[in-house]
Amino acid sequence: MKRAKKKSRISSKSNHRGPVLALVIMAIIALSYAVYRKIDLMRSADREKSIRLILTTLDSYYQSTASKKSDTWWLETAPLPGAESFTLLEARKNKIETMIRESERISDLTKVLSSRFRSVGLGLMVNGEPRQLNKVGSVPTSPTNRIDICIIPKDGPTIHGSAMPYWDPRRELLMIPAINCPDPILKEILFHELGHASRHNALDGNPYYPPTSEAYAAEEVEMHELGGQILDFESKGLYLKRIREVVVRAKNLRSFEKAIGQLNSKDLAYIDALFGCTDLAIPSFQLSSQALLQVGFAWCDEHHLGPKEKIKIYQWFGQNIASVPLN
Ligand SMILES: [Zn+2]
Repeated sequence: MKRAKKKSRISSKSNHRGPVLALVIMAIIALSYAVYRKIDLMRSADREKSIRLILTTLDSYYQSTASKKSDTWWLETAPLPGAESFTLLEARKNKIETMIRESERISDLTKVLSSRFRSVGLGLMVNGEPRQLNKVGSVPTSPTNRIDICIIPKDGPTIHGSAMPYWDPRRELLMIPAINCPDPILKEILFHELGHASRHNALDGNPYYPPTSEAYAAEEVEMHELGGQILDFESKGLYLKRIREVVVRAKNLRSFEKAIGQLNSKDLAYIDALFGCTDLAIPSFQLSSQALLQVGFAWCDEHHLGPKEKIKIYQWFGQNIASVPLN
């Protein structure tokens, strides 16, 4: 009986405790949610602020330098077939072949790509269609070590409506606009696209990745990092030195957006000058996009963050910063 009474006391106590406990838990959940929402709202406000800062830096840099920057094309229109045109393009082909061959010692990947693509077949975009450039005879089919490059003259249409180079996996052609740009930039562009070419072609049978996929972004990260290594090699270490200086400025900043926001107009001017792009437009855009991503990647390395975070940065960049597609 005593025992039963005790039991009933306990059970009546726990009957009260149940609703109280539930209320406390609900209150904690509500409070946590409120705090979480607040942090989340702060974070998204912070993110917005960082994006605005980056866009403002780009706007003010390009507005202040607009009078200086322009591009010239080494080919305004597709030349008429003839010996003179052939000589012009043959010289360009030889230059690109030499560039590919001489870059093999820059990195492991340039070594792979240099041996993969030993010879260049140069074509021209004529009235929106790529044309092979051959004196006579047939084009060899699917040799393992050849890359076909299609030069787009100024009057040639570009698929993206921009003058950016790209690898066309359907035609298996590396499309390059005939814009005059300094050799280090051409080399960076070339190897970035050769990287894509080596992964997506009928011979190697690798699939095409949708642009929104993680695999696509992962490959872009790899090629942009390769681009950074090439620019660093070409500038004898000055390029990545400057990028690291930006990351040092962002030492106590906990998000990649804030770190990238540390890249300022002086950095952009320095990098343009480093590669002879002070007076050029498109090569300078190429460099600034590369530099923004590069700061993000270097920030990841500094914080021992792996490829996942770099992929996130690339995707974030495409959604928030890049006004032209990165190819
Ligand atoms: Zn790419």
